[in-house]
Amino acid sequence: MSKQEFKIAVFEGDGIGPEIMTPTVEVLKRLTSDSTAFSLTFETLPAGALWHEKTGECLPPDSVAAAKVCDAILLSAMGLPHIRKADGTEMVPQIDLRIELDLFAGVRPVFTFENGPQILSDPRAANLDFVLVRESTEGLFAHKDEGVVVDNEYATEQLRITRKVSEQLFDFSFRLAQSRAKLLDRPSKLMCVDKANVFRSFWFFREIFEQRAKNFPDIETSAMYVDAAAMKMVQSPWELDVMVTENMFGDILSDLGAGLMGSLGLAPSADIGLDHAVFQPCHGSAPDIAGQGLANPMAMILSAAMMLEWLGETNQCEEASNAGLKLRNAATKAAATPEGRGRDLGGTAGTESIAQSVLDAL
Ligand code: NAD
Repeated sequence: MSKQEFKIAVFEGDGIGPEIMTPTVEVLKRLTSDSTAFSLTFETLPAGALWHEKTGECLPPDSVAAAKVCDAILLSAMGLPHIRKADGTEMVPQIDLRIELDLFAGVRPVFTFENGPQILSDPRAANLDFVLVRESTEGLFAHKDEGVVVDNEYATEQLRITRKVSEQLFDFSFRLAQSRAKLLDRPSKLMCVDKANVFRSFWFFREIFEQRAKNFPDIETSAMYVDAAAMKMVQSPWELDVMVTENMFGDILSDLGAGLMGSLGLAPSADIGLDHAVFQPCHGSAPDIAGQGLANPMAMILSAAMMLEWLGETNQCEEASNAGLKLRNAATKAAATPEGRGRDLGGTAGTESIAQSVLDAL
């Protein structure tokens, strides 16, 4: 069989973005250089708050067009708090890209690992392994540029839940639960997280969830209000498997998930649609530590591992899937060593040392 070539669009982003992207691309090159089954090439594309300052555009159409013809997109964090639009909100090209490419499923794995940070003292928290799926194109973000402040007296925003996107989101989440059941060799369950006790839109969301569940009788389902779900994530997260929720709730709960892992610097993510996928850390551009060599590149590297696994699955390239798994194992192994433990995790290692420790573990 001929070698498969995957072209990767790279958005380096703002703040610590380029600092964590450079070692990630280096790790990917070293990991895949000997592969006889597939190869990676990279195309760096401009976007971000700094790019907007230079050119007036934060997500140039040419960059979007170039990204669309790539096989996958790696994106570092974007946005800077001091670069704002006239209405006071920030540039958020990473969110615009999700909407532009219909990346409805934001996959945020939460896991702990051997000798890694353990935030909860309960021994059952030593092996956390659950996934939050955050709808990433609508909900409270759907009309994000249309919020209004009236007479300086009150402000309103709109939330949108559509049947089409919700069905896609739930079907994706059920299939994810099925693949976890197969991988982990145990039954799997999916929880819908909403606020259906108060808002009509969330009752609509819940009804669609229950309708789609009928097509996946092998998956145990439940539903929980978001406030109770937040408490459950802290009190008994080892009981969770796959959770699916609206955009804003997912935004908040995924940082809670990163907190359970020990740091935002460890938490990876994937934004997946029917035709495209973006892989990026859960964290932002961390301007408070930018340019100091302190940024933890693990979340970016673990996102790259998710990209390899996704490329493998969607292109029937087992070697790419295996490379993703190998990278994830190397990163978690490295994160448990002093050379791989960043300051955000109570260690002393800087970006370079952490990236090197991943290469050593590989
Ligand atoms: P942030 O995630 O950038 O930082 C929160 C805290 O976590 C900071 O103390 C930071 O130093 C630390 N941190 C984050 N990533 C780290 C890493 N890899 N290693 C070590 N420490 C790390 O969140 P914020 O301060 O609220 O936002 C900063 C900027 O990032 C804002 O402009 C915001 O809009 C943007 N942002 C972008 C994204 C994205 O691109 N997906 C997500 C969130 C925020």
